[in-house]
Amino acid sequence: MTINSINPLNGQVLKSYQAHTSVEVGTKIDQTHEAWKKWKQSSYTVRSNHLLATAEILRNRKEELAILMALEMGKPLKGGRAEIEKCADVCEYYAWHAETFLQDELIQTDASKSYVSFQPLGVILAVMPWNFPFWQVFRFLAPALMAGNTAVLKHASNVFGCALEIEKIIKEAGFPDHVFQTLLIGSEQVDRVIENPHIKAVTLTGSTEAGKKVAAKAASVLKKSVLELGGSDAYLILQDADLELAAESCVNSRLINSGQSCISAKRFIVVKSVEKQFTELFKQKMAAKIMGDPLNEMSDIGPQARIDLRDELHQQVLKSIEMGAICLLGGKIPDGVNAFYPPTILTNVKKDMPAFDEELFGPVAAIISAENEEEAVNLANDSVFGLGAAVFTRNIQRGEEIAAKQLEAGSCFVNSFVRSDPRLPFGGIRQSGYGRELSHYGIKEFVNVKTVFIK
Ligand code: NDP
Repeated sequence: MTINSINPLNGQVLKSYQAHTSVEVGTKIDQTHEAWKKWKQSSYTVRSNHLLATAEILRNRKEELAILMALEMGKPLKGGRAEIEKCADVCEYYAWHAETFLQDELIQTDASKSYVSFQPLGVILAVMPWNFPFWQVFRFLAPALMAGNTAVLKHASNVFGCALEIEKIIKEAGFPDHVFQTLLIGSEQVDRVIENPHIKAVTLTGSTEAGKKVAAKAASVLKKSVLELGGSDAYLILQDADLELAAESCVNSRLINSGQSCISAKRFIVVKSVEKQFTELFKQKMAAKIMGDPLNEMSDIGPQARIDLRDELHQQVLKSIEMGAICLLGGKIPDGVNAFYPPTILTNVKKDMPAFDEELFGPVAAIISAENEEEAVNLANDSVFGLGAAVFTRNIQRGEEIAAKQLEAGSCFVNSFVRSDPRLPFGGIRQSGYGRELSHYGIKEFVNVKTVFIK
């Protein structure tokens, strides 16, 4: 089977990849399992040296990797460079801290000695999406390797070039052969990989639908899964918000990665008394963003990653308008064979519309009106998702109370847009998934939390 990588700027085939056969996949998993037997015995110093070398290679090759992302999935260069920097940061973070995170924890009992030891599980399967083709992989891979696991990657079919580059970088960084391998396979082959007895757990970042399928399969063979899925993050703009700051943060968040981020702001819930003023500021800032060739330094927004995904997004917009939403900006597909979608604002968005209920994975903002703060919180929580949320208010104490106690999501920010940071755990609740990545929580997802008891 051949899998094509298509440039979303012009619809042209960039490269065709021959998919691995099931025999090749089996061999690769065997190799990665064999590699694990040695890797699990390596010292933290050895592991961290390789990971620090990885960070250096990433930084040295930042420019060409950013270009590759621009070509394969349309990410503007500025965003691509920042993504590679972030990958280098997460490698360094775990290189420096993994040993401390995974130290034995002594616990007093009636034993002469009892403690918790964190042991690697084996080969972990990562099923990853195209939106941050390097970051999503390194966010999982850096802690997994430091914990003594090995890994195979099934990357999204439109970013196989990035997947193969990651394999190359890991090799160049001096990691032993087969500690990490890329499987060039379509999603229909994932079930068989999960069934392979050498695969010990699976992590997926992507849509809720794909997450449900992979988790169900993993459960059927009793393998652990971690899921980082979609979101419809609500940003609350309260009456006393600094509207300039709020509008700036909201626009930047909504347009991260041309709108294709799980933790982008998606629903803007604005208290009525400031709705007009906020919407005006928000519109000015959205309209000022430059959409264009991702290889052009000026571009803030590139094409969407695939034409089919862009078309799906447009259908969600059209259906919301049919149901009463008002299109204040954008909302039209530009001419030509490309996957562009312009910054779009829908106002008058209400429950039951796709713009309220579903994830809008593109540069489309849904503005929702709330009578007051209480209604704003209720609207925010009225979602099947629970990935991130933010609240804008000058009353910091009130903001903290809402973020910490009232908003139902995995990451809640005050006066800032939600972003991941290697030092803080990241993940969702409800249909946004389960488990956590990053921080000391992330590295403990794929370990055997082992009790050792000595009489
Ligand atoms: P998917 O969730 O379908 O793809 C993510 C990864 O899962 C890819 O590697 C994909 O492989 C794989 N996959 C898909 N279906 C299955 C399956 N049944 N079993 C095993 N693996 C599977 O995302 P799409 O690219 O189709 O995007 C669809 C929507 O998903 C977007 O519009 C957006 O709403 C959401 N999404 C969310 C992301 C997030 O970060 N939360 C990231 C990407 C998408 P393959 O590419 O071969 O299909």
